[in-house]
Amino acid sequence: MEGLQERIDRAKRIVFFGGAGVSTESGIPDFRSVDGLYNQKYDYPPETILHADFFFHRPAEFYRFYCDKMIGFDAAPNAAHQKLAELEAAGKLTAVVTQNIDGLHQAAGSRKVYELHGSTLRNYCLRCGKFHDIDHIRAAGRGEAGADGLPADGGKGDGIPRCSCGGIIKPDVVLYGEGLDNDVMMGAIDAIREADLMIVGGTSLAVYPAAGLLRYFRGPELILMNRQPTPYDDRATLILRGKIGEELSRIQVR
Ligand code: NAD
Repeated sequence: MEGLQERIDRAKRIVFFGGAGVSTESGIPDFRSVDGLYNQKYDYPPETILHADFFFHRPAEFYRFYCDKMIGFDAAPNAAHQKLAELEAAGKLTAVVTQNIDGLHQAAGSRKVYELHGSTLRNYCLRCGKFHDIDHIRAAGRGEAGADGLPADGGKGDGIPRCSCGGIIKPDVVLYGEGLDNDVMMGAIDAIREADLMIVGGTSLAVYPAAGLLRYFRGPELILMNRQPTPYDDRATLILRGKIGEELSRIQVR
């Protein structure tokens, strides 16, 4: 059977659509694997904590979970991020569409990245709109000072990151119960529509509306790279069950 390399060689406009499984080889847990966040025990399930209502009503509890489980690691891009950046640089790949919020595609050198669910690297004050980096959020969680030398939680000792104006800071990530950015969605849809090869990797395809983007793909080749079966397996022309970093690193870009 014709493999991944032949399909990549033939393709002219590849689009990659990925999820949390792309970053597990960088040490960031996904949600739905056996050792993912959904199978660990918390007072509330992650969908409850990562909901906009929870953020606005119980920000201290939200940030305890968020700092510990969502941004509590120093991760570097892995072989999957790197190969995708290489494919883009070679003019083979037009865009990465990601559900991830870790910024690792850009860290690997990818330029056209549609971040459907936002990014933990961007954070903004709900009062004055000023942007803050991830170090400010981490500093608040640890009860430390921010870059300006002031306590990052405004001196309240509750771990909630605050701006110098006193406003509470919110991560620029799409929480459950919030809508996706329209421009990002439209850009992703256009890239998917125009692709002749779509690689879908490291996603359970369980989170909507992101997973619904697959229906815009009209090209001849859909490759699924996921350790577990997904609801779209029967639409794929090739399925690979290995680790995505290992699978992608075998590709020669030419
Ligand atoms: P998910 O946890 O629902 O599914 C991940 C899938 O990836 C699983 O089916 C698993 O079998 C597979 N997988 C794990 N490691 C893999 C590997 N090395 N190679 C191949 N497959 C692998 O993730 P989702 O579908 O992205 O949905 C979860 C939501 O939470 C998304 O919005 C996601 O962005 C967000 N999230 C993001 C991060 C991150 O930014 N790194 C981490 C956790 C969750």
